[in-house]
Amino acid sequence: MSEQATQSQAGAETPMVEMRGVNKWYGDFHVLRDIDLTVKRGERIVICGPSGSGKSTLIRCINHLEEHQQGEIVVGGVPLTQDVKRIEQVRRSVGMVFQHFNLFPHLTVLENCCLSPMWVQKKSRREAEAQAMQYLERVQIAEQARKYPGQLSGGQQQRVAIARSLCMHPDVMLFDEPTSALDPEMIKEVLDVMVELAREGMTMLCVTHEMGFAKTVADRVIFMDQGQIIEENAPEPFFNDPQSERTRLFLSQIL
Ligand code: ADP
Ligand code: MG
Repeated sequence: MSEQATQSQAGAETPMVEMRGVNKWYGDFHVLRDIDLTVKRGERIVICGPSGSGKSTLIRCINHLEEHQQGEIVVGGVPLTQDVKRIEQVRRSVGMVFQHFNLFPHLTVLENCCLSPMWVQKKSRREAEAQAMQYLERVQIAEQARKYPGQLSGGQQQRVAIARSLCMHPDVMLFDEPTSALDPEMIKEVLDVMVELAREGMTMLCVTHEMGFAKTVADRVIFMDQGQIIEENAPEPFFNDPQSERTRLFLSQIL
């Protein structure tokens, strides 16, 4: 099927992310077990669970930073196979924000934000910079545009990382514990940006233990343990009436 035909299937009804029967191993270690997950456009999902339960692996499979061995992953109507073209197509539609920001230290904030728009989307420097400044303004950091990441606080760097992702106009954003490396006083400034994004209708999958954030924006909260989705529900029933003993135990430890 041509790339165009594949894209035209991705109408409003097409789920943004579909995982069906996904299994993954690291060597002998079975890290994801029979994952079934459908994320509709505009949906906000929070994923929580103990350390080592496979949360990062799950979301990294969605943009093929990790490869799954069994099952199907379809992103915006495009099936993730070995086909490099499809992997690139999916990556263009998926933004990712990591725990440790992953900004390029030798580039300024503005250059970090312009790199992919110029090299992947072939925008001119002028156009890329104008757009980057708009997104930097949205995360309230435009005044730091000429600085290097090392000159910024953790919270500021994470806001730059979010702006950098937005410069690629992603259809879905993946967040992997975006606030867990931050000092407490900086967590709110990053969560505020994420809440704003959610309000604007961005499709989001967020691995986080910020349960206040989950209650505010999540349509669904997913609890993972030992590579499986143990439980998923809307925030209200998830927090007030967890069904699984493992979920109850986990919540009692973090709340
Ligand atoms: P979480 O994000 O929930 O803490 P991860 O997805 O990072 O969990 O990891 C799940 C399990 O897989 C952990 O036991 C971890 O040690 C293991 N793991 C993660 N990445 C690799 C890898 N590249 N090679 C081997 N094992 C890995
Ligand atoms: Mg992780």
